[in-house]
Amino acid sequence: MKPAPFDLIPARTAAEALPHLTGPRDAKPVAGSQSLGPMLNLRLARPELLVDLSACAELRAVTQEPDAILYGAAVTHAEFEDGAVPDATPGWLAPIARRIAYRAVRNRGTIGGSIAHADPAADWVATMTGMGASVRILGPRGARELPMAAFVTGALSTALEPGEIVTAIRVPRRGPDARWSYWKFCRKTGEFAKASACVLADPERGEYRVLAAAIERAPVELPDPEGLIEGRTDPRAAVEAALPFLSPERRALQATATIRALAALKTGVPA
Ligand SMILES: Cc1cc2nc3c(=O)[nH]c(=O)nc-3n(C[C@H](O)[C@H](O)[C@H](O)COP(=O)(O)OP(=O)(O)OC[C@H]3O[C@@H](n4cnc5c(N)ncnc54)[C@H](O)[C@@H]3O)c2cc1C
Repeated sequence: MKPAPFDLIPARTAAEALPHLTGPRDAKPVAGSQSLGPMLNLRLARPELLVDLSACAELRAVTQEPDAILYGAAVTHAEFEDGAVPDATPGWLAPIARRIAYRAVRNRGTIGGSIAHADPAADWVATMTGMGASVRILGPRGARELPMAAFVTGALSTALEPGEIVTAIRVPRRGPDARWSYWKFCRKTGEFAKASACVLADPERGEYRVLAAAIERAPVELPDPEGLIEGRTDPRAAVEAALPFLSPERRALQATATIRALAALKTGVPA
């Protein structure tokens, strides 16, 4: 099927994009078009106007801050994969990007588009939540920032208000003592995860997190992350208790993903 007719406006700046998104026409932002494109083709989305953010100067920028790096929303998966942008972590971002879909998708797909689309199985949705990132938003009422855990409100659902766009993702810097792992189950390369788990242990910042993702809703933090990381708490029991809404089969897969992510954290072998 072909998409319904639409107009396309390239925005050079975020300020240029906003009036189109709050105007009288049914308008949507587009970045890499790797998620929106298929929806247009299937006519699941029929906007009259697409506002292309992919070449927007601020959305392509990367800003170094003492405690974090701010990645413009239009930075592509491939740019993370290739190390074309600095890493706020000790090398955790490139391996995540490398395992998203195929290179053709990664060349165009953006971190901001992935987070705004909020597919529960998306890699940046899981890992940015696991790393405690936050999302910079710009809209008709100005700028605001939300932690990822508050930004993603459900499957394909975010806290974005009409006319708002994601401008950047703030990823906290992690020192050499911080440890991380991410485990995902995919039926085959290039497919979305069926279950995934992230583990963060950052003694310097006092942050410990064990996260279940790809669970058809926003990622869920498991209780007692330090107990799980230190082996005092049973991961199967934690998953059973925290994810009662999953089928027994999905819970079993989720528990295995969690056990493997916890094991990968210990060995230091990237999951
Ligand atoms: C074959 C295939 C396999 C895939 N496999 C995976 C996978 O394994 N893991 C994974 O994580 N992803 C996967 N994806 C999705 C891919 O990562 C997309 O690139 C990503 O989800 C969306 O990014 P985009 O820049 O293409 O966004 P677009 O498709 O351009 O937009 C997606 C949505 O976000 C909105 N949007 C875009 N940018 C902004 C912004 N800055 N502010 C507000 N709203 C915005 C759009 O209006 C639209 O609703 C796959 C895609 C394909 C086609």
